[in-house]
Amino acid sequence: MANTAIPIQLAYAETYNGMVIPFITLRHADGTPEFGQIDHNRVAECITGRLCQLCAQPLTDAAVLMARPMDFGYGYVPEPAQHPECAAYAIKACPMLSGRLPRLRDRTRPQRRRCTLSAACWCGEPPAPPSVEAIVRSGRPATPWYSVRFPMAEYEVTMTARKGPRGISLHALTHRKIRLVSWGDPDKADLGRVIVYGLPMPEAGSGS
Ligand SMILES: [Zn+2]
Ligand SMILES: [Zn+2]
Repeated sequence: MANTAIPIQLAYAETYNGMVIPFITLRHADGTPEFGQIDHNRVAECITGRLCQLCAQPLTDAAVLMARPMDFGYGYVPEPAQHPECAAYAIKACPMLSGRLPRLRDRTRPQRRRCTLSAACWCGEPPAPPSVEAIVRSGRPATPWYSVRFPMAEYEVTMTARKGPRGISLHALTHRKIRLVSWGDPDKADLGRVIVYGLPMPEAGSGS
């Protein structure tokens, strides 16, 4: 958490309570971050611009994606990649990325924090109904999480029908290195995906 060492890439990143604020984290009008909610414009900017979701700097040699078993089924990850050093920091510092909390935990809840500028901020607006995907994801707090390291030469954006960036392709990665970050408490569907896609499982006796 706050005592996790910050890597050099993140030396100039904004922090909040000692934790780096990821570039893609949604901010209130008064500047406070809403951890767990993402700024969709910044997500699109990172995916198309080949930028790191944490420090917003260009990705060069190698990058890391954080993926769940269901992402391997879809064939892409709907969030930007990270520098390997930034990913290592996020795994240590951010409970959402290490799978202890769902990534989009606030999106189906009507109550939320209001900032000091709520009259001019999105938090003063009535909440939008959650998307189907947000509901599906928020109901799955214990899914396994994997880190997928790959060479940037294999970076490929998956597009939507409207030619917007949907995510980063997992199919295009032929030299990917997959590691288990957090096993959680997978249901039968996730266990099936782990087997079908040949994903790593916890070693016997290591717990999760
Ligand atoms: Zn606000
Ligand atoms: Zn970075």
